[in-house]
Amino acid sequence: MKVLKFGGTSVGSADKIKNVAKIINDDEEKIVVLSAMSGTTNKLEEIATLFLNGKKEEAVVQIELLKKNYYQVVKELFKSDEYQIKGQELIKQHFDNLLSFTKDVFTRYEERAVLAQGELLSTALLQFYLEEQKIKSTIIPALNFMRIDKSLEPDEYYIRENLKRELAQYPNIKLFITQGYICRNAFGEIDNLKRGGSDFTASLIGAELGADEIQIWTDIDGFHNNDPRFVEKTFPIHELSFDEAAELAYFGAKILHPSSVLPAKNKNIPVRLKNTMQPDAPGTLITENEVEEEGEIKAVAAKDGITAVKIKSGRMLLAYGFLRRVFEVFERYKTPIDMITTSEIAVSVTIDNPQYLPEIKKELESYASVEIDRNQSIICVVGNLIAEGKGIALKVINALEDIPLRMISYGGSKHNISVLINAEDKIKALNELNNKLFKFD
Ligand code: ASP
Ligand code: MG
Repeated sequence: MKVLKFGGTSVGSADKIKNVAKIINDDEEKIVVLSAMSGTTNKLEEIATLFLNGKKEEAVVQIELLKKNYYQVVKELFKSDEYQIKGQELIKQHFDNLLSFTKDVFTRYEERAVLAQGELLSTALLQFYLEEQKIKSTIIPALNFMRIDKSLEPDEYYIRENLKRELAQYPNIKLFITQGYICRNAFGEIDNLKRGGSDFTASLIGAELGADEIQIWTDIDGFHNNDPRFVEKTFPIHELSFDEAAELAYFGAKILHPSSVLPAKNKNIPVRLKNTMQPDAPGTLITENEVEEEGEIKAVAAKDGITAVKIKSGRMLLAYGFLRRVFEVFERYKTPIDMITTSEIAVSVTIDNPQYLPEIKKELESYASVEIDRNQSIICVVGNLIAEGKGIALKVINALEDIPLRMISYGGSKHNISVLINAEDKIKALNELNNKLFKFD
């Protein structure tokens, strides 16, 4: 059994949906996880925000516009009158549901129901298309098995048991379709795994079923050695370890949701990144193996929107417990820390969510002086044992000789060297690293 996840751009038009049907139509047993058609979740977020702000008429205008797009998709997708009608009914039903929110009080609960429509629509459209093509398949609704607990973590036991029960209902079917992203929460309400969460869905399903492979299909041929949006010459990386992929996914390479690495890693299930536009290209294979040479630099990624917080106190000198007090403040405000550097009298940390920064600063200032630098970027260099090998840090620092470095993090993991720089130097840094760390034939 394989799990194949197709992202929003891979199901972004009638033609693309047809293309997905082609890719999944063989005799292998598989579960296909779909995102919403590209742009839909953003639109639904916009609509929900309008509702939350009481702007019902504007919400209705946006709903009608989106509905039109979907009618167009139906028109292009189905050949027969029968499925044209089925498709139109489907669209009408989902959009009537959206329009019905004009009558209710609109809370965060309704918001999550609105956000769920995208994946419900894309999967229903694919299923109808497969039926029209006489390809045997069925939908297993994610809302029947995907669930998060009270701490918003996946409820693995629930997922496994319910998924198995769903599948057992269809002993003669090999092709299953389900929704990414959406789930139920501990109260049984409709919820979601956060933006980009369809990868996480695929990984959880793969892990719970002990799948042979989890495939993430997008519109680019795997992880690249650098960010193609900012650097001209990049190339796909064919193999990565789970640890390397986790670092890259977290530090900015948008192709894979960072949470999705862990379930696969825990159960040692290979993850393959594939390109729907070039299904035969090898893409990137992520496994436990660290087969490459030691000390090989594999990729560079950047994460924007970083805030650095420098906490300085004479009391830190020769004191124990100081770091604990600092970290407890971040913990109380549920603010994750990414990078850390320390000296004897100061510690600098970075965060990417500044929501509670004023409160955090105020608490820290009761025993330390606090300096804040906004608009920073983390540049992350990833490779096998690069933070152990000889001379590799030197290469990285040399490549960045013209760029002011605010923090350097080396040795936290064997696979990563990170530096913090001003966001305005990011593109230059990515290009310098590309020119000086990689060989191009
Ligand atoms: N449709 C959701 C989003 O746009 C989930 C996903 O695509 O992974 O964030
Ligand atoms: Mg995605």
